Amino acid sequence: MKKLFIVANWKSNKTTFEAIQWLKKFTVASSQLTDKEIIICASFTLLPDMKKTITELKLPIKLGAQDVSPYDEGAYTGGVNGKQIKEFADYVLIGHIERREKFGEDDGVLEKKVTMAIKYDITPIFCIQKENSFIPATVKIVAYDPAFAIGTGKPDTAENANKIAHQVKTNGIDFVIYGGSVTSENVNNYTQASHLDGVLPGKASLDPAEF
Ligand code: PEP
Repeated sequence: MKKLFIVANWKSNKTTFEAIQWLKKFTVASSQLTDKEIIICASFTLLPDMKKTITELKLPIKLGAQDVSPYDEGAYTGGVNGKQIKEFADYVLIGHIERREKFGEDDGVLEKKVTMAIKYDITPIFCIQKENSFIPATVKIVAYDPAFAIGTGKPDTAENANKIAHQVKTNGIDFVIYGGSVTSENVNNYTQASHLDGVLPGKASLDPAEF
């Protein structure tokens, strides 16, 4: 059986109290866990308490950040660097369309973020929105996350996502996941596609039962 990455992108949602409530409500049958990596990408402020609760409740969940500074530690006011993130998280989302469009991040800055993640042993999940996109050489996990499908209720077809995953993998990427209006109703279409290795739900990850 192939390994599946099930990656929640909580975006800028939830207080610490709400995040802990989510974790307390989350249940998964151990039979469903085989060969799955469940990752929650949450706001920086949530990560310390989430890590504590995950450890206490022995939950099969890894944590991811939603950003990493392109700079190392030092005089970068407001930057949260890789060394700081590694205390709590093993993964980081880089290149999400909302970072590219709303925060003006370009390929150059995204490549620096990937370098910083790798330096501190954090696995980047690098988001692309279309085929033939720039992907830094050290990236191993890519999320195909097309803008037209994000938050619209209009997902790309599993066939097209699978085709793009295939193309991305020919360039040396190990894993490709799909994001864009994934729900409990359509998720199997993506996880069963031959070249896809998981999903990246946004809205559908905010409710533990739906997730
Ligand atoms: C996303 O933010 O990457 C995403 C896929 O969101 P949604 O599932 O809400 O479309």
